[in-house]
Order: sequence, then structure tokens, then C-alpha cells
Amino acid sequence: MTRTLNQLAASLLLTAALIVPTHAQNSADPVSAPVAATQPAPAATPARARNVILFLADAAGVSTINAASLLGYGEPLKLHIQQWPHLGLSETSPVDKFVSDSANGMSSIVTGVKTRNGVISQNADAVRGQRDGAPTKSVLEYAEEHGLMTAVITTQSIADATPAAIYAHSNDRGKWGEIFPQAFTPRFGDGVDILFGAGRAKIGEQLTAAGTGFDQLSQAHNRPIYADLAAVPATNTRPVVVGDRMDVHAATLKALDLLQQAPEGYFLVVEWDAHTDDVRKGLQNVVDFDRLIAEVQGRVDLTDTLLLFTADHSFGLQVDGGARGGELLAGYDAWKASGSKDDVVRLENVMINRTHTGEEVAALAIGAGADRVRGYFPNTHLFDVMMQAYGWDRDAAE
Ligand SMILES: [Zn+2]
Repeated sequence: MTRTLNQLAASLLLTAALIVPTHAQNSADPVSAPVAATQPAPAATPARARNVILFLADAAGVSTINAASLLGYGEPLKLHIQQWPHLGLSETSPVDKFVSDSANGMSSIVTGVKTRNGVISQNADAVRGQRDGAPTKSVLEYAEEHGLMTAVITTQSIADATPAAIYAHSNDRGKWGEIFPQAFTPRFGDGVDILFGAGRAKIGEQLTAAGTGFDQLSQAHNRPIYADLAAVPATNTRPVVVGDRMDVHAATLKALDLLQQAPEGYFLVVEWDAHTDDVRKGLQNVVDFDRLIAEVQGRVDLTDTLLLFTADHSFGLQVDGGARGGELLAGYDAWKASGSKDDVVRLENVMINRTHTGEEVAALAIGAGADRVRGYFPNTHLFDVMMQAYGWDRDAAE
């Protein structure tokens, strides 16, 4: 059903030969100048995607991506995602402030509607913790409506703001007891098909406080909620795993095995935390995430799949010293041993202001529909990029 890049190249060569036979016959390279001069250049990538994968590195601003390459490879521009052809700068602020939290940041990306910090996929009429705004429809909900398979995977609590914005709506990101059960009471389709995340203990507490629990939800919706990836039987094609922690590498590959059998295509979101409060941990997370992304790219067909990488907001990290061949994080071990809780961390070559920051974050893309990612834009544009890749229109009411 899908065409490989080789097939596309072959058909291009055939077209070239048919259109300009004299040039083609005389040229060792039939795709060179004569064809380009007489024919409009073919699109570098197909405009339509069957599948979209959104990789969300939470808090990975441009400087974090740079530093991750320096930590992982000792040189800039060595991450896999830094080889992708399409790049834009995505502006992340909420409607009323300069700096975003994860709730507004992710809600804006997946629903195309900016809102207020703390609010999960409701419009800006919401008052955090007090009043609901209208729910804003996420790409996952559109995908469910269109009969695709959907999946959300995260290193963090599956009820935390970033994953929650994809499958739930709430006026307060802290209300895990009302957020998590929404995975089982979808507004469209049969709801999120694959849910792999962490946070089991704290979600369990909040479910109890809300008068329910993992067992009650499992029984009410006839859907087991496993505590470990390894516990999922091979026959379960819509698995839910909420663990104490989540191996996102294993989870993503397991999800892909299921998603790639979806007859209508799929929508997958993978979140990996990249806050650099602990700079070594945060940067290593980006390096590991990048390796996973390279592995995923090797398993998909870019002629029918869009891969998108971005962050929900930036973070106050700067590399302001250091030399090639030297140690980027000199002084880290002493800082770690000190147990310091200071907001500003001053290492030899790196300064970390341990808070979210307002500048734009990178959006990187490859595959079908990727060339719509370019220039500066509000993060809500990424919703349009995903919708246009699928060929879907936003509901008129939104
Ligand atoms: Zn975040």
C-alpha cells in the first residue's frame, strides 16, 4: 500500500525519461539539470501522512539540545534529530503570561488552542482549580474519531500535565483523580488505545481520594491496568500500563509493534523528561531519547509517516564555557554532593537557572508533511502541521 523512497525515485526517473527523452538518453544522470529546468521540482516529501509520531522532550530548549550533543558526543550537531531537514522555532507562551508550564504548552501543541498555565486542554475561559473552560479537541481525539490507533507513552506520571493534555480535559493539572479516569471515558472513538507511563503510587492515592482505584476502573471498563510492561499478555492489543517507573525505550518499541498493524494508521506521542534541574540527568535523557528516535525512524516508512520533535517550553540552561575534548559538566559531582537546592547552579562551563523560560523552542520534522515546519510560529501551528499531514480539517465549532 505504501511506496518506498526507492519506488518514488524509480518513478521519478521513469517520468524524467518520458518527458525529456533526448536529454535523458544523452545524460549519465537523467535527474540532473534538463529535468529540473522544464518540470516543477517534485515535493521533497509527500504532503499526506498515514501516521504521525510526536516526540516531546519536556523542557528541552535549543540550548538543552546543543548541550546534550556536547555531553553525549563531545561536539555540537551530533544528535540524530539535528540531521532532520525541517526546522522551525515554536513560541510556547500561555494567553496571559510570557512563560509556559507543561499544561498550557502541551495543550497548545495537541489542540491548537493556547490556554492558561495549569489548564489541561480547555480553552482560556478556564480558571485554574475553579472554573472549567470549553474542552479543546486534541489530535488524539481527532485520530480516534477517524478510526486510527492511538498511544501515549511517557517517562513521567501518565496523569501529569504533558501526557494528560493529550487524552484528558481539566481546569487543574493537579487533579489526577479526575484526569486519569478520562482515559477510559473517551469523547471520541474507543479512547486512547495504548497508555504506558509511570506515577502508579501517586495516581493510586488520588484515585482513592476520588472514590475509585485501579481495580475499580479495570473492572468497570473491562480493561486491565498493569503495573509492569512485562505483565502485558501478547493477546492484549490495547494495553494500559501504569508503573512506578516506565522504560520508554521498551515501551515505544512494544507500542510500535501494535500500532504498525493498525489498518487506518496511528497517532503516537512519546514524552521523555528533559528538565535540567539535575543537568547531567536531563541532558542524558535527551541523548537517550535521541537514540530512541533514530531507532523508531528505522522502523517507519517516511513516505507515509510524519516524525515531529519539539518541547512544551524551554528551560534556563546555558553553556558559557568549555573546550572540545574537555568535560562539559566539570564541577557537577561536587554540586551534586553538596545537596544544594539553590535556584541557580553555577558549574565551570554551564549555568542553570532552574526554571522554565520563555524563548522559542525548536520544532524538528522529517517525513510526510514535514516541510510545513519552518520559520517562527506559535506552538499551536504544530497542531495544524499534524492535522494537515493527516488531511483533516479542524471542527467548525472550535
Ligand atoms: Zn514541561
